[in-house]
Amino acid sequence: TRKFFVGGNWKLNGTRDFVETFVPILNASPSENVEVVVAPPSPLIALVRGRLREDWGVSAQNCWKVAAGAFTGEISAELAKDVGAKWVILGHSERRTIFHESDELIAEKVAHALAIDLKVIACIGETLAEREAGQTLDVVYRQLKAIAGKVSNWSGVVIAYEPVWAIGTGKVATPAQAQEVHAALRTWLTSNVSVDASSSTRIIYGGSVTADNCNELAKQGDIDGFLVGGASLKPDFVKIVNAKL
Ligand code: 13P
Repeated sequence: TRKFFVGGNWKLNGTRDFVETFVPILNASPSENVEVVVAPPSPLIALVRGRLREDWGVSAQNCWKVAAGAFTGEISAELAKDVGAKWVILGHSERRTIFHESDELIAEKVAHALAIDLKVIACIGETLAEREAGQTLDVVYRQLKAIAGKVSNWSGVVIAYEPVWAIGTGKVATPAQAQEVHAALRTWLTSNVSVDASSSTRIIYGGSVTADNCNELAKQGDIDGFLVGGASLKPDFVKIVNAKL
């Protein structure tokens, strides 16, 4: 069985003061039978790791594909780990769109992170235009194929299906829409990787998840958790963590 997984992606939000007031709220909340990971901006990783309850993990939001060198403005997987991250989010749609990251670059980053034992939340998802053109599965299969080609140990990977049209828009996918894609991704894993990877890999949903819509989504058989943006900065995050209770 797959342990429910909830990630809080703070994106470029938060300060040291915010950490000092918000993390104690997270620390006081119930969380049973769920793996929780908080992803602050990289300058706050060490502080969050220092303040956050031990049973929750910390994630970076991105990292570069080599350990060190002349890469101004980047952080490495090694450095993220050194300051307390156990996870990294890779392939987020904001990285793909705003920073022009290709399937190939994302795959190289995935390979490097996994090689040094940094676990990966690998994000995929179609745009509204792609969905309306009937290309949803073509797009997510292409994105997943690039990533899967670099993975040998699937226990270090969570797949996040985040339809771009649902991110930050308040337009959450319906439980049926999300379940349909999650089930298709699981079938893809069966056919292209292994039955074991397909049955054990968590496939989580992201895009306008809130305390109000998380319970219905969590009831779907192939939705194994959430990657939460805006609502991860509010006390409501605790309700999403416990969506399965
Ligand atoms: P929102 O929850 O703000 O829609 O963001 C989702 C997301 O991009 C998480 O990575």
